[in-house]
Amino acid sequence: MTLAQLQELCAGLGFPRFTAKQICDWLYRKRVDSIDAMTNLSLAQRARLNEIAYIGRETPVRCQCSTDGTKKYLFEPGIEAVFIPDDDRATLCVSCQRGCKMGCRFCVTGQQGFHGHLSAGDILNQLFSIPEFDQLTNVVFMGMGEPMDNLDAVLDACSVLTSDWGLGWSPKRITVSTVGIIPGLKRFLDESQCHLAVSLHNAVPQERLLMMPVQKAFPLSEVLALLRKYDWSGQRRLSFEYTMFRGINDDLAHAQKLVDTLNGLDCRVNLIRFHESPEAPYKTSMPSTILAFQNYLNGHGVICTLRASRGQDIDAACGLLAGKN
Ligand code: SF4
Repeated sequence: MTLAQLQELCAGLGFPRFTAKQICDWLYRKRVDSIDAMTNLSLAQRARLNEIAYIGRETPVRCQCSTDGTKKYLFEPGIEAVFIPDDDRATLCVSCQRGCKMGCRFCVTGQQGFHGHLSAGDILNQLFSIPEFDQLTNVVFMGMGEPMDNLDAVLDACSVLTSDWGLGWSPKRITVSTVGIIPGLKRFLDESQCHLAVSLHNAVPQERLLMMPVQKAFPLSEVLALLRKYDWSGQRRLSFEYTMFRGINDDLAHAQKLVDTLNGLDCRVNLIRFHESPEAPYKTSMPSTILAFQNYLNGHGVICTLRASRGQDIDAACGLLAGKN
């Protein structure tokens, strides 16, 4: 719950207004896992809270470790988060839904269908209940689900992470991804300062439609028109995710189309190696093709990086989360 939600709860219980701040402190600073541990609340207050509330802390039911140090955590029912340690960073990739409605053809999660929204508590639990919580430097909403399709919960979770009554993180430590659900995206851009990553994958509209059904309702051109209304020269960063599929979107004609489409927008492009799975009818691009694509973009004024592939051996890499136990 956010501070405002806790204030409403406390008002309904007849508690003083400042009690909500005390509860935030116990939940988000001290991270207690029981209401009884909130020792500056009176015994009567704790008893009343225990009647109507609980701290939704669920430890993961399973952890798989990759040879590269990546860990995939499974929470019941079917929620996955991926811990990705790096030299000076430790990132947690969190899920915001069980499954996903978007049906991207290359994504195992998308092929599995939609099984429900996560609450802000379910999202935050993925951080709070792993042993590496104190090491985390970054959070990315790039696990299962489409954040703009569950925006209230995502914004509340971001609010807990970035507010002074919560964890007090800089919004620069958080990146939220989307396929480009325009109504949610507009609200996100107006209400949040967290970084944004847009899943682009193909700048040719008819081809993007074949890979990403969302292109029909919310064409990339309209997503970009919206993004151009915002300032990307400051702290908040805009990036585009581009997964490389052999013979589909990885030649220089596609690179040129991408440069033309972005047309000077202040952004960067992250190339992602496709992780093959039996469920998806695509192949991984050749390393030399990826390099040529990257060089083309960098040579034409678009900052382009190749994202390191992590956790592939435990099905924790991009597009492979399926909530399997
Ligand atoms: Fe959903 Fe993202 Fe997979 Fe597309 S890529 S189906 S938006 S989880």
